Amino acid sequence: MAEAFAAVEIIAAKRDRHELTDAQIDWVVDAYTRGVVADEQMSALLMAILLNGMNAREISRWTDAMINSGERMSWSALSVPTVDKHSTGGVGDKITLPLAPLVAACGAAVPQLSGRGLGHTGGTLDKLEAIPGWRASLSNAEMLKVLQDVGAVICAAGAGLAPADKKLYALRDVTATVEAIPLIASSIMSKKIAEGTSALILDVKTGSGAFMSDPKRAEELARTMVSLGTRAGVKTRALVTAMDVPLGLTAGNALEVRESVEVLAGGGPSDVVELTILLAREMLDAAGVKNAKDPAIALKDGSAMDKWRAMISAQGGNPDAPLPIAREKEIVKAEKSGTISSLDALKVGVSAWRLGAGRERQGEKVQAGAGIEIHAKPGEKIEEGAPLFTLHTDEPERFARAKEALKGAVVISESGAIAPRLPLVVARIDSHDLT
Ligand code: URA
Repeated sequence: MAEAFAAVEIIAAKRDRHELTDAQIDWVVDAYTRGVVADEQMSALLMAILLNGMNAREISRWTDAMINSGERMSWSALSVPTVDKHSTGGVGDKITLPLAPLVAACGAAVPQLSGRGLGHTGGTLDKLEAIPGWRASLSNAEMLKVLQDVGAVICAAGAGLAPADKKLYALRDVTATVEAIPLIASSIMSKKIAEGTSALILDVKTGSGAFMSDPKRAEELARTMVSLGTRAGVKTRALVTAMDVPLGLTAGNALEVRESVEVLAGGGPSDVVELTILLAREMLDAAGVKNAKDPAIALKDGSAMDKWRAMISAQGGNPDAPLPIAREKEIVKAEKSGTISSLDALKVGVSAWRLGAGRERQGEKVQAGAGIEIHAKPGEKIEEGAPLFTLHTDEPERFARAKEALKGAVVISESGAIAPRLPLVVARIDSHDLT
C-alpha cells in the first residue's frame, strides 16, 4: 500500500516551524505505531516538536491519533459516575493509595490505570506490589468486576491502551525529548481519555522533586491538559501542587504503603491527609456525585479503610500480611541543633532511588523495603545528634551513594528562620479558566 506521506517531509515542516496538518499528524503517529516510520525519523520529529512547539489544534490532533492507536475503555455498565486522578509524580507521592478507596467510599467509581516509577519519582504499581500477593495486571473484565464490587481499582494499563504512547515514551526517554509540554500533555491525556473516565483531576507537581520544577511551566502543562480533557468531553480540572519538600515522612515502596494505611486509619502526616482530602473533594465534585460523604469523615469512620482492604484483596493481595522490611538500616543524624529551614525533595528522591526503591532502566526490579524515613520536616526543631533520616536497603553497599545524594538536603538554621516554601496548592485550573 502506498503511504500517504513521506516522514522526511513532515520532519522538515516542523523543523522549519510550520504547523502540521491533521492528515500529517494522523499518518505519522499511525505509521510510527505500524513500524513504517523509523525510530530515527520519529526521534528527529520529536526533537523538532520540543524545539518549535505545537499549537492547540496540533496537540489535540496528536492526542487523538495516540488514542486511536488502541482501544477505548467504557464503564457504561456502572451505576455510579467514574472519576480518576493523575499525578505527574513526585517524591513520597503516595496519594493515589489512600485516595482511590477514599473516593469509592464517598460514592464515585475510580478506574485508575497507573504506571511504574522511573528515576527519582516512585510509581504507584511498584508501591502496591510491596503488598504480598497483590497483582497489577488485570483484564478489562476483571477491572470492571473490581469496580462493580469495590468501586476502586488500581492496575497496569494493558498493551492495547494507546500503544503509540508506549513506543513514543520509550523513544523520548532515550532522546532527551521527555520535557516538551505538547508531548507530555498528549502522552498523559491520551491514556486518561482512552481509559474512559468521565471526570479527571490532575495533580501537576512543581518544585525541585517534580519533573516540571518551574511553577509557570507546570501551570502551562496543567492548562494544556485541562484543555485536552475538556475537548474530549472529560470533566477535567488541575491543581498545581508543591513538590519542593517530600510529601509525608516516607519515600520508598513498602514504607509508603505503611504511611498510606496510617492515613486510611485516620492518622498519618498532615500534608498527606490534607492533599488526599482536597483531591477527593475535587474528584467527587467533578464527578457530580450527589450527597457524597465528606472524605474527612470517611477517613475517620473506617469506610475508606474497608474499601482499601476490599480493593487489595480483590487483586490477590493480603491487607493483613506484614509488609517487607529491608535487611539493613542506617541513621543519618543532625550535625547541629536548630530549626529545619528546608528539606529538598529531589535530593531525598535521588537518595531513595539509590537505596534501591527505584529503577535506572525500564524493566528492572525494585526493592520493596528500600527507601527513606524522614524524622523532621521544615519548621521543626532538632537537636544535634538526633535522627534526621533512616535509610533502608537490602544491599548495604548502597548506603554511601545514598548518603552522598543527601548532602545539603537539609538546612538547619540556628536563628529559627525557615526558607520560603511553595504553598500546598500553587494554582487551580478549571475548564472555564481557559482563555
Ligand atoms: N508521564 C507520562 O505518562 N507521559 C509523559 O510524557 C510524562 C509523564
